[in-house]
Amino acid sequence: MNQVKEFTEEQHAEHVERQTKEARCLGCITCRCGDEVGLVVAYRCLYCDAWFCEPCAEDHFGMTVDEYHKQDESKGEDDEQKY
Ligand SMILES: [Zn+2]
Ligand SMILES: [Zn+2]
Repeated sequence: MNQVKEFTEEQHAEHVERQTKEARCLGCITCRCGDEVGLVVAYRCLYCDAWFCEPCAEDHFGMTVDEYHKQDESKGEDDEQKY
């Protein structure tokens, strides 16, 4: 199963640092579950800065990606700031 260990703060910082390098150099990241995913299908957490594959993102955010996008859209309607 998709068992993901909780990171300590230090491990998390290392993990995010490695992902940031991967994102920059390779255009893909290694999720904490061990899967390599391209940035176009990876999701980045706004709070802890880590990247996740879709199933892990859903797990981490506590909602499905569909729900996340819906929430995002309704948020976008709320503030009408456009460039
Ligand atoms: Zn994952
Ligand atoms: Zn997070």
